[in-house]
Amino acid sequence: MEVDLHIHTIASDGTFTPEEVILEAKNRGLKAIAITDHDTVDGLLEAKNKAKEIGVEFIQGIEISCNTAEYEVHILGYFLNLEDKKFMNELEELKKARDTRNLKIIEKLKDCGIKANLEEIANMAPGNIISRLHFANYLVKIGVVNSKEEAFDKYLGKRGKAYIPKENFPPERAVKMLSENGAFVSLAHPKLIINNDGIIENMISNLVKLGLNGIEAQYGTFLPSDVKKYKKMAKRHSILITGGSDFHGANREGVNIGDTGLTYSQFRLIKEKNSGGSRL
Ligand code: AMP
Ligand code: MN
Ligand code: MN
Ligand code: MN
Repeated sequence: MEVDLHIHTIASDGTFTPEEVILEAKNRGLKAIAITDHDTVDGLLEAKNKAKEIGVEFIQGIEISCNTAEYEVHILGYFLNLEDKKFMNELEELKKARDTRNLKIIEKLKDCGIKANLEEIANMAPGNIISRLHFANYLVKIGVVNSKEEAFDKYLGKRGKAYIPKENFPPERAVKMLSENGAFVSLAHPKLIINNDGIIENMISNLVKLGLNGIEAQYGTFLPSDVKKYKKMAKRHSILITGGSDFHGANREGVNIGDTGLTYSQFRLIKEKNSGGSRL
């Protein structure tokens, strides 16, 4: 694909540095990419500088983890304004929620007879964000489980023994904060929220009123029939589609930058919408 709008770096749970992501995108012949780390903008400046140096179009993005009573919902934001103090403060709140949750996971693991050392886990996470993926890598490293999948199944996943839901924002708040920031806002990988069209459609209706501009219809694990369905949904709600690989480097095997995404003409619609949208 020409454009990949969903990429993680070491600033959250990817394994490539922001510079490496830009270089890889250039090598693979991509025209434009966005970095969308979980709940952080820490990698964006480094990427922006490198992109400028070597000539890749770069979009400052983020993927905000949200919860409803029932579902985990990820909200993507593009063309972020990092000068926005209110927005930066809200990200700081999310960081605190993460830190609190991580301490609770350590306690739960202890109840399971596993002594996990948060400092060692932090050392395995090069950036400021410690995600469950880092916990999973750690549990593999100390030999408690044989694979990341087993770590999620037994301990970290929703049905795991050490699962702690994060005190995330509801999706409404993330959409609003991104919209107020002037960003283009998209609902990430709808099928991973729940494979139920009625529920997703309701969610979209509700979020569009608060400023949702798109849904991620093109995603690596989606079947062609899914893509078609989500494109239709976007059309029904007069919003655009976004797409990306959800690249995590070695933390998600078999997924490369540009595997999924948009054509440049699909991306152009997003750019046009954003330059004529709430920012002006
Ligand atoms: P967190 O943001 O701390 O809740 O961690 C979520 C991250 O863990 C996701 O972004 C994925 O990278 C990873 N993850 C979640 N569930 C699984 C799973 N079942 N297998 C492997 N990785 C997972
Ligand atoms: Mn991740
Ligand atoms: Mn996600
Ligand atoms: Mn992601």
